[in-house]
Amino acid sequence: MKTSAALDRISPSPTLAITSRVLELKRAGVDVIGLGAGEPDFDTPEFVKEAAIAAIRNGQTKYTNVDGTAELKEAIALKFKRDNGLTYAANQISVNVGGKHTLFNALVATLEPSDEVIVPAPYWVSYPDVVQFAGATPVVVKAGAEQGYKLTPEMLDAAITPRTKWVILNSPSNPTGAAYSVEELEALGEVFRRHPHVWIFADDMYEHIVYDDFRFATIAEVCPDLYERTLTVNGCSKAYAMTGWRIGFAGGAAWLIKAMGKLQSQSTSNPCSIAQAAAVAALTGDQAFLKERAAAFQTRRDLVVDMLNAAEGITCPKPEGAFYVYPSVAGTIGKTTPGGKKIETDEDFVGYLLDDAKVAAVQGAAFGLSPAMRISYATSEALLTEACQRIQQACSALR
Ligand code: PLP
Repeated sequence: MKTSAALDRISPSPTLAITSRVLELKRAGVDVIGLGAGEPDFDTPEFVKEAAIAAIRNGQTKYTNVDGTAELKEAIALKFKRDNGLTYAANQISVNVGGKHTLFNALVATLEPSDEVIVPAPYWVSYPDVVQFAGATPVVVKAGAEQGYKLTPEMLDAAITPRTKWVILNSPSNPTGAAYSVEELEALGEVFRRHPHVWIFADDMYEHIVYDDFRFATIAEVCPDLYERTLTVNGCSKAYAMTGWRIGFAGGAAWLIKAMGKLQSQSTSNPCSIAQAAAVAALTGDQAFLKERAAAFQTRRDLVVDMLNAAEGITCPKPEGAFYVYPSVAGTIGKTTPGGKKIETDEDFVGYLLDDAKVAAVQGAAFGLSPAMRISYATSEALLTEACQRIQQACSALR
């Protein structure tokens, strides 16, 4: 038997591959610092864990409604209202096994082989692959550091064709941390108004991780006339440090939510009942810790941006949110390592960092925009300082 054509169209997640490589090296006793992982180093809050334990004791251990319990949908409706000023009824909310599953459900439930999906690059690695799995075509639009890693209205307009079904907007972004301001969203909204056949997949997974008084906004809130054709996507993974619990969710048109539920009913069925109970607590409990954690991330961002900019050949913009930086490594290309190897690509550069400096980052090529790398600063200041010193030394050693 051979694997399916759909499977052959996708690749294993390159970011998860780096994480496994780091674990392997650590097990072999190598002093490697992993800056590849896309998850907060903070623990799930105690009150969330307690809610899960209570759910187990109360017998919330059975199948639930396929696309989320009534309690969780109510909590999500409250969250969308409280944080985004958006109103979604229960039949407009889908709960899935992580945000990645939300993406999968939405795209697989709607895409035809003739469809195009606009994916701004640098992109989160799953977008193009899920589009391809669904048999459609990702249209990658490169948005470099010159434009703050953000799509301009002109670029969006030029990329839309009669075949465009979805546009992915991810703010704050994985891998760059760039986030769209209200004004920038309004300007994109003008373009969407001219193309009424296009739907918007607004991935707000990093909503609560923003800095310097940046005001987070999502497009359905900024442009209420686009509400009907926007899927507003969020989840518990990043803000609530619940990556392992696997709860993602979306608010959108009732027919689309129903379609996503139909697919889910024949794949995973409901997300874990205990994780759903934990998510209710996370979304309805005291939210004060979100700001405290964002402040801790901001200190780390500042540290990493300053230290990387002091490394020869690296230029690091200061992002508005998430816990990643996406520096250009253009200044290292063409140089030679102490071992005599020429750096020709960002993959060569991150390979050199791993081999010689024992620091793991992810090459920009994985995110569709080179030469760059993604560094996750969701780790302690002490480790970040050590990692950045190693990167500085490795850069200085290039000839
Ligand atoms: N969206 C973005 C932009 C992400 O970076 C991630 C995770 O890395 C997700 C969605 C999905 O998160 P999860 O499936 O862990 O809930």
